[in-house]
Amino acid sequence: DKGLEKSKSNFFDKIGKAIAGKSKVDDDVLDELENILVASDVGVDTTVKIINRIEKRVAADKYTTTSELDRILREEIAALLAENNSSDVNNYELPATIKPYVLLVVGVNGVGKTTTIGKLAAKYKASGKKVILGAADTFRAAAVDQLIEWGRRVDVPVVSKGMNVHPATVAYEAVEEGIRQGADIVIIDTAGRLQTKVNLMNELTKVHKVIKKHIPDAPHEVMLVLDGSTGQNAFMQAKEFTRATEVTSLAITKLDGTAKGGVVIGISDQFKIPVKYIGVGEKIEDLQVFNKKEFVESFFT
Ligand code: GDP
Repeated sequence: DKGLEKSKSNFFDKIGKAIAGKSKVDDDVLDELENILVASDVGVDTTVKIINRIEKRVAADKYTTTSELDRILREEIAALLAENNSSDVNNYELPATIKPYVLLVVGVNGVGKTTTIGKLAAKYKASGKKVILGAADTFRAAAVDQLIEWGRRVDVPVVSKGMNVHPATVAYEAVEEGIRQGADIVIIDTAGRLQTKVNLMNELTKVHKVIKKHIPDAPHEVMLVLDGSTGQNAFMQAKEFTRATEVTSLAITKLDGTAKGGVVIGISDQFKIPVKYIGVGEKIEDLQVFNKKEFVESFFT
């Protein structure tokens, strides 16, 4: 797991420094721990929650030593992640009864949306699935071109109408094409802008509506892509998108470039949406199914 190396050493080192020379978990240690969690982008609310839980455990056992803090913290973070990420199933599996599975991908420009879609398309293609991509992020020409380029790279068809067409038009045709070709999954790239909440909501509502004309219970999944290296921005975007539409899964990218993987813990806790994938680099293979156990380990060892 080369990708998570950075969050690893950094977090662990800081905790080590915070408890250096101390034998018992006192208020100073807890204060320091609170600072470390906030600095790691866990977010204030989730940090307070974790600290409160630890405080209770420490108070119940007056003899809690700093050497036990590592284990306790690990358990609390694991418990928190488990609350919102119920299983570590192979998330590349598609439900057998749904065909095509319609996956709508949302997120602001630059977070790694197109790259994540390309990586996903490659995974599905490699596992023998028929994939169709829809270039419905029509606001930016580069976004459409990039998706077409990914389609070429991983050899899957891309439905595109160029730019300045309403995203719903492309989404409609992508699903239509998916049905026509007997695709297993249609992945639609959409909504790269966030200038006003109302626009975003209207746009996504329209996209949902036209997709339902083909398949009433689609989209089957709405995945929000967030850049894990942007800390508070990622939290803000999660807030905006969850207000505008029902987000059902998360992909958190660029965790290779940050020492602050705590954003995964905070966002999963604050928004009660499971993290499905993490991005740990720019290459096709740099997408991992989120595994809470591995994640906690990578944070501490
Ligand atoms: P979009 O505008 O959201 O579609 O973003 P792109 O997919 O074009 O990605 C923006 C930049 O982030 C590109 O240079 C990608 O190569 C890079 N990128 C995407 N995912 C990751 C990741 O997990 N790690 C790193 N280091 N870079 C990434």
